[in-house]
Amino acid sequence: MIRRDRIVETFCDLARIDSPSGEEEAMAQHLAARLEALGLDVARDGYGNVIATDGGDDPLILSAHMDTVEPGRGIEPSVVGERIISDGTTILGGDCKAGVAAILEALESIREDGVKRMAIEVAFTREEEIGLVGARNLDFSMLKGAEAVVFDGEGPPSQITSSSPEYIGFDIEITGRAAHAGVEPEKGISAIRIASEIVTRLPQGRLDEETTFNVGTIEGGTVRNAVPELTSVRGEFRSRNIETLDGIRLQVDEALDTVRAMYPEAEIGCHLHTEFVAYTLNEGEPVVRRVTDALESLGLTPTMQPSGGGTDGNVFRLHDINAVVVGMADHGMHTIREYVTIPDLVDAAHLCETLLRMDE
Ligand SMILES: [Zn+2]
Repeated sequence: MIRRDRIVETFCDLARIDSPSGEEEAMAQHLAARLEALGLDVARDGYGNVIATDGGDDPLILSAHMDTVEPGRGIEPSVVGERIISDGTTILGGDCKAGVAAILEALESIREDGVKRMAIEVAFTREEEIGLVGARNLDFSMLKGAEAVVFDGEGPPSQITSSSPEYIGFDIEITGRAAHAGVEPEKGISAIRIASEIVTRLPQGRLDEETTFNVGTIEGGTVRNAVPELTSVRGEFRSRNIETLDGIRLQVDEALDTVRAMYPEAEIGCHLHTEFVAYTLNEGEPVVRRVTDALESLGLTPTMQPSGGGTDGNVFRLHDINAVVVGMADHGMHTIREYVTIPDLVDAAHLCETLLRMDE
């Protein structure tokens, strides 16, 4: 039986283990021990992702990520009414520890009830938040399953991520010329000035319902009194519409060409890289039906919600694993106002349990 007190305790225990991206080791060891206690064979792949299996045929992959964003150290979770919150100085880490807790509670419940369940594989990944890095480096030869349910969506478990955008990162490197700012500024070419000319020619923010553009960082210059020689500008744009993305690529090229013409002596390089590709769920896919059937049998109404972000589900799909991303009861992700709704967390565990149970 899914137990509310137990899943809340599991979640709070997980939230208290610091696991910012790149520093998941304590979390990985904790989870490996818990999965072993559940009777699974647990291994780590070469990148440190935790992979567990029961050795059965045709397994369903259950997945969530182990890392959290900052500020995510020394998290103090507390229960207030029907919510779990942080103390307001950190995130809560419900993204994705609510998903991890739901999976663990479902496995615990099935084991203690002694019911038959389908074969499973569990994949807990590292470094999801910094660009799906753990999943990209996951040793897929260790997974046999062809279908995955990823517990990493916002909102209740009935909220299925219907589509995810393509995401393109860009790095612009500008080389001007250094000079003393007071003595001979006319000999210099300011890379910061050039960067600003570029940035004001780039799109910004939400461009349409399915497209966004962001300049995330500018770094440049060394000291107050030197014309800055080097500046780099990093950002990303994403859209669920491939043609829109092509249009933006052209816009970026045009902006760069215009500024190159203004500063022929400067060097302006740009590198675009596709971080993940778009997908749209087909509602007829067996794994989608599996999830919607399970939700309906619990009296929950599935809703399909497009997402502006990527998840490990994008990487699973690249590896021909049909992945569905479901909500894990988390709200206000990546902010200090993040909270987990306990009834939804319990429902997420129920969903996971129902997906696995094989009742005669
Ligand atoms: Zn997440």
